[in-house]
Amino acid sequence: MQRSSESAAILARLRLERSVGRGLGLCKTWRMDPTHPRPLAELPAHVAAGVHTVLTDIDDTLTSAGHLTAAAYAALEALHAAGLRVIPVTGRPAGWCDHFARMWPVDGVVGENGAFYMWHDAAAGRLRTRHRLDAAARQALTERLAAVRERVLREVPGCAVASDQFCRLYDLAIDFCEDVPALPAASVDRIVALMHEAGMTAKVSSIHVNGWFGAWDKLGTARLMLAERFGLDLDAERERIVFAGDSPNDEPMFAFFAHAVGVANVLDHGPRMRALPAWITPSRAGAGFVELAQALLAARV
Ligand SMILES: [Mg+2]
Repeated sequence: MQRSSESAAILARLRLERSVGRGLGLCKTWRMDPTHPRPLAELPAHVAAGVHTVLTDIDDTLTSAGHLTAAAYAALEALHAAGLRVIPVTGRPAGWCDHFARMWPVDGVVGENGAFYMWHDAAAGRLRTRHRLDAAARQALTERLAAVRERVLREVPGCAVASDQFCRLYDLAIDFCEDVPALPAASVDRIVALMHEAGMTAKVSSIHVNGWFGAWDKLGTARLMLAERFGLDLDAERERIVFAGDSPNDEPMFAFFAHAVGVANVLDHGPRMRALPAWITPSRAGAGFVELAQALLAARV
C-alpha cells in the first residue's frame, strides 16, 4: 500500500516536472512519453524471468547517501548466487574497480564511465583489465588533463578535485556534491562547458562531473565486455538485460535498454535528463536496487 502510494507520488511529480520543464523551454531535452517511467511493479513476470544479466550503476543506485548497505550488498549477492550475470557499470576509478572486481559477488566491472572493464580471472588467480587506451596513450594525456583541472578550479568557485582522483587512470573527476557543499546547477553546467571546450567528453553523475579525452561511454564498453567476455550480442540480448541507474551519466544505458530501471531518485535530476528509464522503483537508491533484485528473483521461482 505504502509502495503504491509512493509510486503514485513519484509519477505525479514526474508529470509536474515535465510541465515545469516545458514552461522553462526545456521540453526539447525531455523525450519520454507521459506514461514513462512506469512503476516496477508493472514489469511483466515473463520479462523479469527472462533476464540473465544485471548491469548496475553504483553511486546512489546501489549505495545510499554514500554508503553500501548490507541489504543492497545482499541483493547483489543473491542475484549472483541465482546465476544472473552481475556487472557494475560506474564512473568510479580504476583503483576502486580493482576492489569491486576482486571482492564483490560480481562478474566484472566497467569503470571510469567506460574507459576500461576489469574482471577477476579465477582460473589464473589474477585481475585482468581491458583498456580503451594503452599506457603510452594515457600518459600522453596527463598534461592536457592537468590544464583542464587548473582552469576548472580557477573558474568554478566551490568545486574540488574528487577525493578518488588519485585512483583514476583516464578521467578528471570534479566534485560538486560529495566532499564539498552542493553547488548550484549553473556551476555544474559551467564545469561541463569548460570540459567540452577543452575537447573532453563530460558526464554528470550524482556527485561528480567526469571528463575524459575519448569517445567511450558506459554503453559502448558494456557492449565490448559482453561480446568479448561472454560472447553476447548486446543488440540481440537487450530485452534480457536490465540496467539500473540514477543519473545523467546513465542516459546512454537508459536510452538503449528496453528494461532499464531507475531507482526513485532518478527524478531528482528532472529536466537535466535527456533519457529516462522505462521502469522506476518505489524506493530511492540502494533500497530501490533491493526492490529490483527481489522482483527479478521472485520471477525465477
Ligand atoms: Mg549514480
